[in-house]
Amino acid sequence: MAILVTGGSGYIGSHTVMELLEQGEEVIVADNLRTGHQAAVAGGTFYHGDLRDRAFLQQVFKQHQIEAVIHFAANSLVGESVQIPLDYYENNLIGSHTLVSVMLEHGVKKIVFSSTAATYGEPNRVPIYEDDPTAPTSPYGETKLAMERMFHWCDQAYGLKSISLRYFNAAGAHLSGKIGEDHQPESHLIPIILQVALGQREHIAIFGDDYPTEDGTCVRDYIHVMDLAKAHWLALEHLRKQNQSNIFNLGNGKGFSVKQVIEEARRITGHPIPAQIHPRRAGDPAVLIASAEKARRELGWTPQYSDLETIIKSAWSWHQAHPNGFQS
Ligand code: UDP
Repeated sequence: MAILVTGGSGYIGSHTVMELLEQGEEVIVADNLRTGHQAAVAGGTFYHGDLRDRAFLQQVFKQHQIEAVIHFAANSLVGESVQIPLDYYENNLIGSHTLVSVMLEHGVKKIVFSSTAATYGEPNRVPIYEDDPTAPTSPYGETKLAMERMFHWCDQAYGLKSISLRYFNAAGAHLSGKIGEDHQPESHLIPIILQVALGQREHIAIFGDDYPTEDGTCVRDYIHVMDLAKAHWLALEHLRKQNQSNIFNLGNGKGFSVKQVIEEARRITGHPIPAQIHPRRAGDPAVLIASAEKARRELGWTPQYSDLETIIKSAWSWHQAHPNGFQS
């Protein structure tokens, strides 16, 4: 039986596909290639199509015996979602709705879901635990939370078992050097900093230095993409064994400010990486740090690559070898 990975050509999706293949799983990828790269998919069977296209999905489910779905395909940028909320509602909610209804039509009742720390919004305390209140500050977080809730009600009604993985800040690149982060245009902090070090940008814009944090810049919990990929496989195994819905935070439990990340990148790249202070970006909470105790305890997940040095070094190797991403 196969595992269907939606959005498997994206950044976290492609690293998860690699992990699943290493674990000996049969992998099917469905992706519309709007933001992903087919070259990032290390193996398995690839289908080019959109989740909102029911006929396309039905074809995929007819061709293969699908055991479970790992669902990444979605729009995923906090800042952008504040600018174009309707796109997020349409792609994220209608895509997931169509996916789940076709899954149920074919009797597929296991899903691992790519969720986000953005479901919490501005937290009341850090680290954040899974049962802390959710109050998203962006349409991105809001649509991801709505999808989690849809899965919850589909469990009650139809026995759909879901594991939602709430990622904090995915970063770094595969240590094999074969795949890494490639967004066009790039909006994430670490790759943008490294583009400055590569001479592709003049400076890094720091979005706000008046947050209630030690140095005034936002604090995030950076987690290596290979550790995230491993967590998806563990979640799949957990669904196979326990067949119970659940929610897990995936983070490192440590926070770094934007300024600290820039400083570490200066040390690793040897480049001065000039920085300028810009206004805040809409939708950004000041501090997001995970408690990932539950994932460690119940999934047996142990992040191995998530110290800031390994994250930035692996990303730096990828960006140096692929200055234009997968087109290099
Ligand atoms: N950030 C920044 N300059 C940039 C990109 C990001 O100051 O050019 C900040 C952003 O405001 C946030 C943090 O870096 O506080 C991480 O942003 P990113 O977009 O990488 O991830 P997000 O937290 O939105 O998932």
